[in-house]
Amino acid sequence: MTINELIEAKRTNKGKILIVDDQPLNIKMLHQIFRNDYELYMATNGEQAIEVCHKMQPDIVLLDIEMPGLSGYEVCQKLKADPETAGIGVIFVTSHFNEAEEVKGFQLGAVDFIHKPINPIITSARVKNQYQLKLQTDVLHSIAMVDSLTGVANRRQFEQRLPEIWRQCCRAQSHLAVIMFDVDFFKRYNDRYGHQDGDRCLRQVAAGLSKLLKRPCDIIARYGGEEFICILPETDLAGAVYLAQVMVDGVKSLQIEHMDSSYGVITVSAGVASILPQQDIDWHALVEAADQQLYLAKDGGRNRVVGTDLVTV
Ligand code: GH3
Ligand code: MG
Ligand code: MG
Ligand code: MG
Repeated sequence: MTINELIEAKRTNKGKILIVDDQPLNIKMLHQIFRNDYELYMATNGEQAIEVCHKMQPDIVLLDIEMPGLSGYEVCQKLKADPETAGIGVIFVTSHFNEAEEVKGFQLGAVDFIHKPINPIITSARVKNQYQLKLQTDVLHSIAMVDSLTGVANRRQFEQRLPEIWRQCCRAQSHLAVIMFDVDFFKRYNDRYGHQDGDRCLRQVAAGLSKLLKRPCDIIARYGGEEFICILPETDLAGAVYLAQVMVDGVKSLQIEHMDSSYGVITVSAGVASILPQQDIDWHALVEAADQQLYLAKDGGRNRVVGTDLVTV
């Protein structure tokens, strides 16, 4: 998705609000205020609230403080501690104004407070403000994490995601693979066809590569000028080499003319590395290994895949 498409999707979709309260009557009142303008979700306890946050990724949570089981504070704390839910805007809904309570809520990462009895106009204005802020933050976040030329993830996103995925694979004791791609003879392409066609070519290659990733957890990022890198969780060497070959063939089949390549069309080379990740190994080692394999693929004639398994003891 390009940045413009992302922004458009955010504008046209309704905002998502999760209402959390142990009293159904309170939920009902809030529901009436927001039902026309937002997509609403409900939870009557803290555990359920956290589950819904993970599944539905609401923009805003209206969170009651006093509930049996997990209190609103505890829910807020858990949401903020998890990178997957930390960006959700938490607004506490409390029975009466209490300064110490509000201080605590803000310290835990809440963005606002609403007091019962609920005034519909104040409540909807406060929620709208926070929703607008959330929207802007999301758009900025997308811009910061997406490569503006090709629309795939950028290097920053890659460097954020890989250590996270590395840790997940350590816990799950599952394989992790990366594929490093580099466009062949791309300097010559720019020299012959010009930089604008070069840019268009990179967009086509990026789209062609990402189309071939079928699993939602797979990530492709632009790693450098004409280099792309894929993160493939739960994938061993054989699986990653197979996919890399499909992707290398996929780029060739785009048939982008390249008169100064021995292949006559744009091709890519791929270096694959896989590992059973461990906490005490630096994830950079995996990327370096893929880079070395890529070098071998170039050396072996380009338009090909070379891979290795990093054996850990
Ligand atoms: P090899 O097959 O060994 O990879 O050769 P190469 O020419 O692709 O490698 P080299 O690293 O010498 O050149 C990469 C070229 O990619 C240099 C630069 O002109 C081009 N390039 C890098 N980023 C961009 C970009 O954003 N747009 C365009 N149009 N070209 C770029
Ligand atoms: Mg309550
Ligand atoms: Mg290169
Ligand atoms: Mg190159």
